[in-house]
Amino acid sequence: MDLSIVIPLKDEVESLPELAAWLEQVLDPRGLDYEVVFVDDGSTDGSWEVITRLRAANPRVKGLRFLRNYGKSAALNEAFRAVRGEVVVTMDADLQDSPEEVPELYRMVREEGYDLVSGWKRKRYDNVVTKNLPSKLFNAITRRISGIPLHDFNCGLKAYRRRVVQQIEIYGEMHRYIPVLAKWAGFRRIGEKVVEHRARKYGRSKFGLERFINGFLDLATIVFIGKFGKKPMQFFGLWGTLCFVTGLLISGYLVASKLLDSAYMLTNRPAFYLALAVMVIGIQMFLAGFVAELVSRNAVDRNQYAVEERLGLEDAEGLLPGNR
Ligand code: UDP
Ligand code: MG
Repeated sequence: MDLSIVIPLKDEVESLPELAAWLEQVLDPRGLDYEVVFVDDGSTDGSWEVITRLRAANPRVKGLRFLRNYGKSAALNEAFRAVRGEVVVTMDADLQDSPEEVPELYRMVREEGYDLVSGWKRKRYDNVVTKNLPSKLFNAITRRISGIPLHDFNCGLKAYRRRVVQQIEIYGEMHRYIPVLAKWAGFRRIGEKVVEHRARKYGRSKFGLERFINGFLDLATIVFIGKFGKKPMQFFGLWGTLCFVTGLLISGYLVASKLLDSAYMLTNRPAFYLALAVMVIGIQMFLAGFVAELVSRNAVDRNQYAVEERLGLEDAEGLLPGNR
């Protein structure tokens, strides 16, 4: 199969028939073998019934329905396990992303060899204060931290080589950082395409301002896991040692002062409390590091690597537990 279109949705009943018809109108003339996968993320407005009807009319339409609302990341993650196309395109269901962009995105992945092409809503039709400005800041920070020169990390319209989406795991609010996850996983050919953006036609946005707090916490998690996930002691050990040694040096200084002058009151010195606190924190860091090492030793993916090619070697799948 050439192409899988993945569409996560929560309560978008009015948009679905229009979106499905538009996709058909754009894709059918191109002779592509494709599927459209709707992921109903716990809609309560009858979206699923519409998807069932669309499927009855067109077997290219496929669907997956969650029992409750798990979030956009969960929806994408679940669909990514099921897609069959060589290229996977994700888009929002609310008609803000235009199906007209899909063929070019598909071409960039198929022919230009990109692992991932992200849409860039250069001209955006959303609320300036709650969406556009915060998202500029968010993108600038993510760009800086990840070193990926994208303008619009959170664009719902993206295209991937299937391998990419099946290699990474998205949960929480991490759909905003798929390019970062892809880069950590080793996929470096990341491109960008300016895409047309449209005002929301029906319904309303499912994300409020709280997404920025959650978004930044997730960024912290991603950066930490990407850097130290498999070697937590290198983080906790370093900072633990630094803290502990600092405390030790201050204590040394205090003890020396006491030895030189027996009237010196240790407990009157702020440095005394500082030394105490810093040493305790240092030991805590070390302990956290050991526990984290124990956890990561047992992680199911501790020995899963993305093997690009093998020369004269069998795939080890099935031979060693967890070795692929
Ligand atoms: N969405 C979802 N689960 C959720 C929230 C949103 O599947 O819990 C879908 C939503 O239906 C839409 C896409 O994610 O297809 C983007 O959401 P929305 O348009 O509300 O976000 P915005 O464009 O305002 O950032
Ligand atoms: Mg939208």
